[in-house]
Amino acid sequence: MTMKGLSAPNDLTIRFWGVRGSTCTSGPNFVEFGGHTPCVEVRCGERLFVIDAGTGIHAFGAHHGQNLPKRIDLLFSHLHLDHVTGLAFCKPAVLDREREIHTYCGNLDGASAAEALDRLFAPPLFPITLDMIPARFVHHGFRSGETLHFSDGVAVDTLPLRHPQGATGYRFRHAGRTACYISDIEHGEVWPEPDLLHFVRGADLVMFDGMFTEGEYPACRGWGHSTWQKGVDLCRAADVRQLGIVHHYPQHSDALLRDLEQQLQAAMPTAFLARERQEVVLPARARVPEPA
Ligand SMILES: [Zn+2]
Ligand SMILES: [Zn+2]
Repeated sequence: MTMKGLSAPNDLTIRFWGVRGSTCTSGPNFVEFGGHTPCVEVRCGERLFVIDAGTGIHAFGAHHGQNLPKRIDLLFSHLHLDHVTGLAFCKPAVLDREREIHTYCGNLDGASAAEALDRLFAPPLFPITLDMIPARFVHHGFRSGETLHFSDGVAVDTLPLRHPQGATGYRFRHAGRTACYISDIEHGEVWPEPDLLHFVRGADLVMFDGMFTEGEYPACRGWGHSTWQKGVDLCRAADVRQLGIVHHYPQHSDALLRDLEQQLQAAMPTAFLARERQEVVLPARARVPEPA
């Protein structure tokens, strides 16, 4: 037996390119955590997934340049503006005629993102339509809760989340590791909800929407977001190893977020508030089957 399945390229690797929620922010008080809206790179070994196309996808594209694969699978949590407006600015991908960008959307009763994106990326809101862009877009619709099966045999599980118009949570399993993306979500009266608890149970990493503090939350009830405390409650109940809080409130400065992170780590030492460009490597601990 070779050690191939245990070598570094088989790790499950997460990289945050945008961790700000609702709208981007900038300025001297927002340098450490960053200002881009949601975009997360997930690598199952070499295999690439991108979650959300907030403004962070511009930085993602600029970083990887021509090293991006010819086919990019982009999984939308949902289509609110902070999760889609960067799409046309992932330049190395969209300017390449050989490239296919496959989008996946699960919160529209099975419809794809095509119609919504065609409304956004069209004059007068945007100078051209997506079909005028050199790369080819292929839009897939599914129902949150279904498992996505890709042609290379990789599967990604999904879950509907409580959010205005709904959102989709994702679970990636690779080489004995599990990482979940649970954003955007608002906690309910019963917390953690049994289906969510089951979905994230035993995960190595859960990325969770902790946009508001518990003090801010009552004034923002119904807006579709949660708190870091609810993330800790979920991860404790589900035996999750690491918690990464995402979708930071645009007005939360670096100083405030550092303070919140101290409180968070007092409750759960392995938890953190995600920073732009931060990478989390979950080393492979199971042999990956050879491709058939
Ligand atoms: Zn959002
Ligand atoms: Zn949203």
